Amino acid sequence: MLINVQDTPQKAIRIFDRLVETFKEQDINPSPLNYYVWYQYVKGNIPALRQEMDSILHDPFGYNDRVGKRLYDTYLLEPEENTNEFDRAFRRLIDAMVKKMDAWSDKLESHTQQLDECSTQLSNPNLNSEEIQRITNTVITAASSIKEGSLNIQNEMIRNAEAVKDLRKQLQEAQTEALTDELTQIGNRKSFNHAIEELIQEAQDTPENLCLILCDIDHFKQFNDTYGHLVGDSVLRYFAKILQKEAQKFETICRYGGEEFVILLANSSLEEAIERANNVREAIQSAQLKRKNSSEPLKTITASFGVASYHGNDETAQSFIDRADKALYMAKESGRNCVIDERQLQLE
Ligand code: GH3
Ligand code: MG
Ligand code: MG
Repeated sequence: MLINVQDTPQKAIRIFDRLVETFKEQDINPSPLNYYVWYQYVKGNIPALRQEMDSILHDPFGYNDRVGKRLYDTYLLEPEENTNEFDRAFRRLIDAMVKKMDAWSDKLESHTQQLDECSTQLSNPNLNSEEIQRITNTVITAASSIKEGSLNIQNEMIRNAEAVKDLRKQLQEAQTEALTDELTQIGNRKSFNHAIEELIQEAQDTPENLCLILCDIDHFKQFNDTYGHLVGDSVLRYFAKILQKEAQKFETICRYGGEEFVILLANSSLEEAIERANNVREAIQSAQLKRKNSSEPLKTITASFGVASYHGNDETAQSFIDRADKALYMAKESGRNCVIDERQLQLE
């Protein structure tokens, strides 16, 4: 079952990155609360919020901190269902910030009240100098407390904005780790699943340009049996390096599992993909592998390849992958160390 890319923190991170730009462009205060409101707006899961924001944004100066707080209180006080990791962490941060803001606003209110009382008392013409001094002291204390409090809250806002950025960074790191194959340091199966879903969505207009190469090292079990698993691991790392060496920008290279790898080509014809597969095939076949310590030459490694192109018309990732898989199977059946593409399947 492929992962729906819409539900991953990856999407949250992309939205967040776009917001950072938008906030700069439109000079919006980058407070966590504003980020959260806009994040939920762009995400679009709350239609009423979306509608109201749309109408607010008709006016270029329509959005400000106050509007943000009102929207938050109206639509976002209740945590939404089906949230992802990013949303939950974001939410915790906002809740903590809102609590601090509320506490500050209570304090500010009590100070304001105190100042009002002082002002009333000072309007009494019969005050003696001692009384005036006492009231003045109260005013000074309240004013400096307000000043200190507002500075604190300003610093708190800056810290919170930093915390949102940190959160984004942490998530990005966690994501990268979750999507990387530990042995070869290229993308893993999960990252392939994300990539293919995304590319398929993008490819609906120009489907003939999306191709998939599945590669599987030949007789790798035998290789492991001869030289041991650790040497086998080095070969897998080496294979990943070969795949990356000639990689074009538009390629996604992943370890599909065990001794199987994939190249997704976002911008290639079937012919170009076949040529790419053949180049890899020749590169691995002509590599002179040696043991690291003794330089003892190792057996030549070969691999088999299945190549398919995406057919569009809402074809699923699974049916696209199946075609490449069938071609790979045929390559194995045809004696290995060769490239078979989907057109040869139809000849069967
Ligand atoms: P074929 O040509 O039909 O692909 O034969 P094969 O031996 O490569 O295929 P098979 O599926 O029988 O065996 C795959 C082997 O790949 C078995 C397993 O030991 C090896 N393998 C899978 N993952 C790893 C790994 O992480 N490290 C090492 N060293 N070997 C691995
Ligand atoms: Mg295999
Ligand atoms: Mg194999």
